[in-house]
Amino acid sequence: MNDQDSQRRVVIIGGGFAGLFAARMLRRAPVRVTLIDRRPHHLFQPLLYQCSTGILSEGKIAVPLRDLLRKQKNADFVLAEVTGIDADGRRVLATRPLGDQMEFGYDYLIVGAGVQQSYFGHDEYAKWAPGMKTIEDALVIRRRVFGAFELADTAVDPAERSRWLTFALVGAGPTGVELAGQIREVATKTLRDEYRHIKPEDARVLLFDGGDAPLAPFGPELSAKAARTLAKLGVEQHMHSIVTNIDGSGLSVRAQDGTVTHHEAGTVLWTAGVAAPPVAAAIAAATGAKQDRAGRIVVGDDCTIPDHPEIFVTGDMMSLNKLPGVCEVAMQTGIYVGERIKHDVAGKMPTKPFRYRDLGSAAYLSRGRAVVSVRNVHLSGFVAWIIWLFIHIGFLTGVRNRLGALVSWWPAFVRDVRRERTYTTEQVGVIGSAYDVLPPAAAAAELPRPGTEPSTRTG
Ligand SMILES: Cc1cc2nc3c(=O)[nH]c(=O)nc-3n(C[C@H](O)[C@H](O)[C@H](O)COP(=O)(O)OP(=O)(O)OC[C@H]3O[C@@H](n4cnc5c(N)ncnc54)[C@H](O)[C@@H]3O)c2cc1C
Repeated sequence: MNDQDSQRRVVIIGGGFAGLFAARMLRRAPVRVTLIDRRPHHLFQPLLYQCSTGILSEGKIAVPLRDLLRKQKNADFVLAEVTGIDADGRRVLATRPLGDQMEFGYDYLIVGAGVQQSYFGHDEYAKWAPGMKTIEDALVIRRRVFGAFELADTAVDPAERSRWLTFALVGAGPTGVELAGQIREVATKTLRDEYRHIKPEDARVLLFDGGDAPLAPFGPELSAKAARTLAKLGVEQHMHSIVTNIDGSGLSVRAQDGTVTHHEAGTVLWTAGVAAPPVAAAIAAATGAKQDRAGRIVVGDDCTIPDHPEIFVTGDMMSLNKLPGVCEVAMQTGIYVGERIKHDVAGKMPTKPFRYRDLGSAAYLSRGRAVVSVRNVHLSGFVAWIIWLFIHIGFLTGVRNRLGALVSWWPAFVRDVRRERTYTTEQVGVIGSAYDVLPPAAAAAELPRPGTEPSTRTG
């Protein structure tokens, strides 16, 4: 038996902030780390809206996980979708992109699979109103936003033209607010001189939310400032509004007084609500763990599932003391469980319970305008925008991406130039997702048949 065989196996589900930071904490530990993700890259979600509105390319907000782990000799990466676990047998069950099954034995399991968009029981809305969680989502939104101006330009019927020039966003949290502001800036600045049959600046951006004000978690003062900035940009804010239907023509919304209004809109975007992905329910069923209303797994203050000291849940998928789903929570829980495993392997006393250090939050409103909230300090306007800039440069993964973002921001912020406006006019390929089952004819003609027996990998 060589050293490697005797080392303990750590399997990490998800290469987001939580999973990646946990893996990095274990780089010098005598363990074998296997990081499994259904996507090949680590994604910086906070800048997805800049990818979808043409400022940043997808390559500047995502880094291959293999690249990030290349120097970490005790770590391996596997592209597969985890479907469940066998908690008694300590095995993770996964599906390769071609559909066959894999298994991974573990001594410690770190779950960091994040959350996905929730349509509050109306998944049928997804067809008309894409959410914003992945690179695929951002590219779909880019296609819909820039494509809408093209369709408006060639529309003969004035009603159709006006429909394509109407953009509706559901959810006035940071993502909805950031996207709404960006679409107005695209319309009034970037596209200003490019069209001969429409005035892009006529584009209407409608922002709907069931609450009192946009950016409510930032507190009343910053929320009011954000509302004023959005109004100046030309974003029409409809608060106390509940969406009752979304279809190909637009959306219907119920106001506080109960009246329902239909708004014709060529583009509807969904930025409200998140829920844990299906793998959370599978892990809860296998371990007896509780889930909160959004499906997140409830953990103890050491981030473990009760009666399973070997299974840690981290980041957005973890439910602990109502901590928010933000990067800092994900990073800090990743670091914490990495350290805890290191201590355990070394036979030392376990580390203290997890304590979150709140470093504040920031949201971008428009060029030169942002809001920042750090404990009792609330900032807005240009100073907040400069702080926003430094925070995002600091947190972007990889030096190349930081420099690349600065190079893209310069023309965007100084001259309103958005260089990343390329989009395809059709879906490419025969499959929607690499994990979908292929149509039989295409599968037989083009691809080797996947094995039917599960293969076993132990990391
Ligand atoms: C549009 C947007 C804007 C945001 N803005 C901010 C912001 O300004 N500030 C802030 O602090 N936070 C922001 N957030 C939240 C922040 O991005 C998340 O809190 C953070 O990414 C959570 O990290 P995580 O590692 O828990 O999950 P994620 O980063 O979501 O990573 C989860 C990983 O798990 C993988 N995965 C999922 N299911 C499976 C499976 N079954 N098998 C294998 N792999 C799987 C996914 O592919 C993904 O790589 C934003 C989020 C979004 C969507």
